[in-house]
Amino acid sequence: MDRADKKRTKIVATISDLKCDTPFIRSLYEEGMDVVRLNTAHQDREATQKVIENVRKASYRIALLLDTKGPEIRTVENPQLPMEVKEGDIIYLYDKGYFVEDAYALEVTYHNFVDELPGLGYKVLIDDGDIELEVKEKKEHEAVCVALSSGTIKAKKSINVPGARFKLPSLSEKDRDYIHFAIENNLDFIAHSFVRGKEDVLEIQKILDEYNSPIKIIAKIENREGVDNIDEILEVAYGMMVARGDLAIEIPYAKIPGIQRYLILKGNEKRKPVIVATQMLHTMIENPRPTRAEVTDIASAIYSEADAIMLSGETAYGKYPLESVQTMAEVASEVEQSKEPFYETPTVVLSSDISAYLSKSAVKAVARLNAKALIVDSYSGRTIRNIAAFRSTKPVFAMCYDERLVREMALVYGVNPWYLERCQDSSELIRHSVNALLNAGHVSDRDRLVIVAGNFGQKHGASFMEISSAENLKNY
Ligand code: PEP
Repeated sequence: MDRADKKRTKIVATISDLKCDTPFIRSLYEEGMDVVRLNTAHQDREATQKVIENVRKASYRIALLLDTKGPEIRTVENPQLPMEVKEGDIIYLYDKGYFVEDAYALEVTYHNFVDELPGLGYKVLIDDGDIELEVKEKKEHEAVCVALSSGTIKAKKSINVPGARFKLPSLSEKDRDYIHFAIENNLDFIAHSFVRGKEDVLEIQKILDEYNSPIKIIAKIENREGVDNIDEILEVAYGMMVARGDLAIEIPYAKIPGIQRYLILKGNEKRKPVIVATQMLHTMIENPRPTRAEVTDIASAIYSEADAIMLSGETAYGKYPLESVQTMAEVASEVEQSKEPFYETPTVVLSSDISAYLSKSAVKAVARLNAKALIVDSYSGRTIRNIAAFRSTKPVFAMCYDERLVREMALVYGVNPWYLERCQDSSELIRHSVNALLNAGHVSDRDRLVIVAGNFGQKHGASFMEISSAENLKNY
């Protein structure tokens, strides 16, 4: 069975230079990985370059997604760190570039941190919330806090203040450098961390436009502002990631399942791919089998209509990376088979109302006429994303005239992208695509197929739907 026939949900796997040899990448791909995530928060250019080269040797179909650090605040390297703190200790946090002399004083990476702290009583969470402080007093450049928990504070650890809206620049110097790196290396996606509003996306888009780069931006939603501004963010981003790691620090964790469903719904309504990320198979970093809760978490993301699910430490440094991808693919496949064959979502006009109407009708037709598969061609991917939104349980073969578009489809649910030489007209497209699928064994002569294509050129998009057997269509 072809790898894409096994499951419809796409899988993103984080890969580090610790383990990234080409046979390993190829085996993850064969098991169902569609996208490789390069997490620049933990890598330098050289290490990232090594991963890219090895992925490209494995398959041109694997999309490459570069994840930025984004606007974040961390503890600064300091001789007092690591620092042991006990509940009740008084800790002094001071702005970047300032200095407080005390054994319990530590600098943060933002120069206006104290001024922008919203007020007394706010919680400061260090190292993904492992240490919790409460702000007791604000002095010039210095916040006096009390420790609410005990532990060790280390250098370069994350600092989150739930409810605060820091005016940090969207892009750090490192991020800018990495965006240029992504352009030079012709990567497919940039996932930008801590997107708060559309301006954060547009700042990257501006750089991409300067270089005429087709890279697509994925907005990582990981704080309250991102959730509140999701509508404007999706107007300008290609897709979104529900980045549950930071989200569950910035927002009480009991609210995360509801927010996940809300964000997926927003993405789906606007035909934007949604990735659900973090701790999906966390225990598989150490164990060969998942917990029941993890299996159910994957299922819940798929039942809510996520396009893609993501692995982080499981594949970046875990002991069972291959098993993690296999587990995701196996669970996804089971869940998908238990879903309705047509997901009712509002018709949305992305470029043409005709294409929007045809998309919905085609998915209905495949289900109701018991067709084997749906075939669509697309120049920009819009019609394909439109079709994907209706979550066909039958295969959707997307004929792309560009290898990059093949990789862009690596984040779109249920789409099996095929690279095809550009056709003269729609008759040639139908003949070529049906013959290609027959030769590959995906369909046989007697299978009924639904085809959506256009007769009036790229500008006008899809204009008709053809339904017949592969036998008739192969000689169209
Ligand atoms: C997250 O916070 O869930 C996330 C995906 O971001 P990162 O892994 O880059 O911290």
